[in-house]
Amino acid sequence: MKITEIRVYQIDLPLVEGRYSWGDGKFVEVFDCTVVELVTDSGSSGWGEVCPLGPFYLPAFGRGARAAIAELSPHLIGLDATETGVVNLVMDQALLGHPYAKSAIDMACWDLLGKRAGMPVCDLMGGRHGEAVALYRAISQESPEAMAAKIAKYRDEGYTKFQLKVGGDAKDDIARIKATRALLDRDEVLVADANTGWLMHDAARVVDAVSDLDVYIEQPCKTYEESLTIRRRTARPFVLDENIDGVHMLMRALSDGAMDVINLKISKVGGLTKAMQIRDLCVSFGVAMTIEDSWGGDIITAAISHLAHSTPERFRFSSTDFNSYVTVDTAHGGPKRQTGFISAANEPGLGVTSDVTLLGQPVAVYS
Ligand code: MG
Repeated sequence: MKITEIRVYQIDLPLVEGRYSWGDGKFVEVFDCTVVELVTDSGSSGWGEVCPLGPFYLPAFGRGARAAIAELSPHLIGLDATETGVVNLVMDQALLGHPYAKSAIDMACWDLLGKRAGMPVCDLMGGRHGEAVALYRAISQESPEAMAAKIAKYRDEGYTKFQLKVGGDAKDDIARIKATRALLDRDEVLVADANTGWLMHDAARVVDAVSDLDVYIEQPCKTYEESLTIRRRTARPFVLDENIDGVHMLMRALSDGAMDVINLKISKVGGLTKAMQIRDLCVSFGVAMTIEDSWGGDIITAAISHLAHSTPERFRFSSTDFNSYVTVDTAHGGPKRQTGFISAANEPGLGVTSDVTLLGQPVAVYS
């Protein structure tokens, strides 16, 4: 399956809710999504996708993804797409960093590997664990009352796990956590995700004020060192996300006992190949995971479903069905949420295909 052509598509993904707001006053209304089609000499195409959470969440942005793919493409033409180790090595030698852009290529390679093997990607990643993957719903930052109302709505749709977007004013965030926890049953999960938005004194006030509540604290502060100080002064279960951007930070954080759970985003770490390495280390070290991506449409939701479904159930803290947050499809056959769960497809590869009827004409073609 030699790569003969790389087609790059750009598609805007508006939100069902109109706006997604999180810590430190950040928000996005339309996501800039890039879809990659790897055309091969076998006649099969592989599909990948990358969709940064705006240009100010991680060091990643839509036009950056397309520029990096342009830089990488001459190195990829002629490679066997199913040799994921070779493709990753070539990408890392050709371009330092830019893991999010490489993620879309790597995802498309896994799609082709599955098609060649005649197996779903989740079977190639270790096999399917359990019936379905439990999802969380992200609750965009609003007033405590509005967020509580959103939780009631999404609970009616079958979700049992909720991630509150906090990271704003500490007093308001305490009210957000208290108002929403009061609505939930004991077996429902609440995470307060500050997305790096608190200074240490803000975070200290919040964790003290919610010390008697069943709530997880996620990524309170900007740096790893700041977040570690908060980890050491609270007994609440603790999640690191933005700071765990690869295997080296994971090893450091494991050594420091810096978290109980990590948020593993496929594009943050450079694709499914590298995410699987981190996933397997987390399983060995007893760390549960939220398995997801920064954002995305049907192709990313499919990739999430395969990585998560091939992860032992005890280690699956939660995942995300991004294709239910946006108003347009990026592919046919994306996994659809059933109550609060998704499942990996049984078809070979990722189980999605796309075309110009959804994506429009490619914005770039490399051959
Ligand atoms: Mg997070």
